[in-house]
Amino acid sequence: MSLKVPNSALKYPIDLPDGLTDVTEDEYHHIKTVFEGILPLIKVPYEAADEDEMRRAFELAFRAHCKQRRKSGEPYILHPIEVARICAVELGLGHTSVSAALLHDVVEDTPVSLEMLEKEFGNRIAMIVDGLTKFSDFASVRDKVIASPQAENFKKILLTIAKDVRVVLIKMADRLHNMRTLGSMPHHKQLKIASETSYIYAPLAHRLGFYSIKTELEDLVMKIIEPEQYSYVVQKLKETQSEREAYINAFIAPIKESLKKENLDFKIYGRAKSISSISNKLKHKLVPFEEIYDLFAIRIILSVPYEKEKATCWNVYSIITDNYTPVPERLKDWISMPKSNGYESLHTTVMGPKGRFVEIQIRSERMDEMAEMGYAAHWKYKGINQQDSILENWLTKAREMLENPNHDAIDFLNDFKSSLFSEEVYVFTPKGELRFFPKSATALDFAFDIHSQVGYHCKAVKVDQRIVPLSYELKNGDQLSVITSNSQKPSEDWLKIVKTGKARSKIRQALKEERIQLGSLGKEILDRKLKALKIEGEENLDFLVKHFGMSSRLDLYYGVFREQINLSEIKNIRFENGRLLAQEAIKDNDREEKIEKTTTNFNGLYDSLAQKRQFKKPKLMVDGEDASTYVYSLATCCNPVMGDDVFAYVTTKHGIKIHRNTCPNAEYLQATFGYRIKKAEWVETAGSSFVAELLITGMDDMGVILRLSNVIANKLKVNMRSFSMNGGEGHFEGRISVEVNSKEQLNQVISELKLLEEVNTVARIV
Ligand code: MN
Repeated sequence: MSLKVPNSALKYPIDLPDGLTDVTEDEYHHIKTVFEGILPLIKVPYEAADEDEMRRAFELAFRAHCKQRRKSGEPYILHPIEVARICAVELGLGHTSVSAALLHDVVEDTPVSLEMLEKEFGNRIAMIVDGLTKFSDFASVRDKVIASPQAENFKKILLTIAKDVRVVLIKMADRLHNMRTLGSMPHHKQLKIASETSYIYAPLAHRLGFYSIKTELEDLVMKIIEPEQYSYVVQKLKETQSEREAYINAFIAPIKESLKKENLDFKIYGRAKSISSISNKLKHKLVPFEEIYDLFAIRIILSVPYEKEKATCWNVYSIITDNYTPVPERLKDWISMPKSNGYESLHTTVMGPKGRFVEIQIRSERMDEMAEMGYAAHWKYKGINQQDSILENWLTKAREMLENPNHDAIDFLNDFKSSLFSEEVYVFTPKGELRFFPKSATALDFAFDIHSQVGYHCKAVKVDQRIVPLSYELKNGDQLSVITSNSQKPSEDWLKIVKTGKARSKIRQALKEERIQLGSLGKEILDRKLKALKIEGEENLDFLVKHFGMSSRLDLYYGVFREQINLSEIKNIRFENGRLLAQEAIKDNDREEKIEKTTTNFNGLYDSLAQKRQFKKPKLMVDGEDASTYVYSLATCCNPVMGDDVFAYVTTKHGIKIHRNTCPNAEYLQATFGYRIKKAEWVETAGSSFVAELLITGMDDMGVILRLSNVIANKLKVNMRSFSMNGGEGHFEGRISVEVNSKEQLNQVISELKLLEEVNTVARIV
C-alpha cells in the first residue's frame, strides 16, 4: 500500500499530481523515525524556529523524492537523511547544515527549483543547495564545451565555499555516504566514484582535520580498486590478532605501572593502523606482511586541564623512555608546533621486546578529539584550540586561488589538489613568522606565499643568508628572504619550478595578462593586413583562428605579434562574397587536443607507439561490445595482463586504451574524465602474450642470475624480455620483464621465484 502525502506544514506546499507516493506506510514510519533520531544528536544548540525549519526541510525533501528509490531499492529520501545525520554527528555541524543536507539533491533530481527553496527557506539554504547541485549536462555551462564535467562541478562547489564553507562539508558527508553504500552500483561507476574520492575528497578530509573520515574513505576506496589486496590485509590482520594483542599487553604493562605511580588519569591502548596504510607499507617497503611490525601504534590519552597538557605529555614521554630505549630521529613534537591542519600530538618510537620498533602517541583528551573529529570538536573547544584559524588559513588560500576568473577547470582542479598536501615542511619568514608548505615546494613558492607581487618580481632567494636557486627545495626550519627587482617578471619556466596551486595560478594569470597585452599589438598588425586585403567580419576572424591551428582569437593575435604566423598566407586563401573559404580540412585542433596533451603529459601516459608488440592481439569486451569494433590497445603505463582488473579509456586520437585499475594514471583519468571511462572485460584469447615487469630483491650470490633465469626460462618456459640487476655487499635488486599469457601464469612466475632461497621479495612494478 502506498502512502498518501501527509498534511503539509510547508509555507508553500508542493503538491503531487495524484497525491500518492511510492512509499509504503511502514517505510514512512521508518523514515520518520530515522529523521527524528537526528534532532537530539545535533551538538550545536538550536531554537524552536530552527527545529521547525528542519522539519519543513524534511517534509519538502520527502515530498520531492517520494517517487524515487536508490539502486539498492530503499526509498531515496533515506540518503539525504543519512547525509544530514553524518553532518550533525560526524562533522559536528548545526541546524542550517542539517536542513541543507536534507535538501541537497532536490534541485538536481526533482521538479523543485532553487526559487522554491529560496521562498520557503531563505537565500542562505538556497545558496548552499545551489553549490551542491551538479551541472545537469555538459553543454549547459555558459555555452562552453566542457572538457571535464567532473572538474567543472568541483570548481562550482569551491566557488561557493568562498561564500559558505558548509557547502564543501556537506559535500563531504554526501560523498562519505555514497562510498559507504556503493555496493549496489555497477563496477565501472564504483571505480569512477572511488577514484574521485581518493583524488580529491580523502585529501580534503585530511586537510580539514577529519582523520577518521579520511581513513574510512581511503579504506573504502581500496576495497573497490584493489579488492584482492584489501581482503588479503584484512585476513592477515585477523590471523595475527591474538599474537598482536599479547605483544601489546606485555609492552604496555610496565608503562601502565609507572603512570599509575605518578597518579595520572589516563587511557592506554594499542590501535591497529588502517587497512590502506598497512597496504601502502607493504607496497613501498616491499616486505612481506610478517615483517611489518608497525601494524599498530600505542596511544596514551591523558585527562588533564588545558594549561597542563604540554608538561604532562612530556612527563609521560620521560616515563616511557625510562622503560624503553627511544629512537631520537623519530621523535615528533606536534604539540609545540601543531601541523597546519591542526593536528597536535607527541609521537615517539621505542625499541620494544623481541627487537621490534613500537610507535607511541601521547596526547590529551582534547587533542585526541580534535585529531579524530577535526572540525566536529570545534564547538566544544571554541576559543582554546587553533582549529578556527587553521580552517580560515586554508580557506584564504583556496579563495586566493579562486580569484583568477579565467582559471580553466582542469587546471583549477589540479592546482587545488596541490593545496591538499599531507606531507609538509615549515619555514620562517625574515621576521620569524611560521609558514607551511607541501613537501617539495620551492623557494619560488615561498615568494608567492609572501605576496603575489613579491612572487612576480622575485629575483633571488636567500636561505640563511646564502643565495639559492629559485628551484631550491624548502627544508624544515629554513629562514628565507626574497630579493625583488622591478624588471623581473614570470616566465613559462616558472610553472615547472613551483609546486603550490597558489603560485601556479598566479603565474598563469600573469602570463595570460602578458599575452593579452602583446596580443593587442598583434591585433593592430592583423587588422591593418586584413583591411588592406578588404577582409572583414567576425566569422572570417574565427576562420583564421582555425586555419592557423590556434585555439582562440587571443592566441591568433599573440601568434601574429610573435611572428609565429605567416600573414602572407592569408592572400592565398579563397575568398568569396566577403567570406574566407576552407581549402582543406580544417586542422583538427580543439579543446580535445588539449585534454589529450594533459593526459599525455601525465606521467607519460602514452609511451611511444613504437613499443608495439608482436603477438596475437588479446580480445576484450568494452561496455559489453566486442572491442574490435574500436581501435584499441593496451596502455603501456601499466602493462595490463589478461586477468587483471581493467577499464577502458576513450582517448581522442589513439582509440581506446586498456588500463589496469591500479594504474598510476587511473585515479586522475577517472576523477577528471569519468565520462570517457568504459567497462572492459577480457575474453579468453589463446596465443596472446603480455609483458609484465617484476622487481626482485634478495641476497647477492654468484649463481643467483642463473637460478632465476633457470626457473623462468626452463622450468616455466616463459620468455624473458629484459633483465637488469644491481647489487653488491650481499644484496641485489633486479628488474625482469617477462612475457606471459595470463595473470595466472604471471602469478605462477611470482610464486616460483619466491621459493628460491636467495630471493626475498618479488613484486610486479606499477
Ligand atoms: Mn547526494
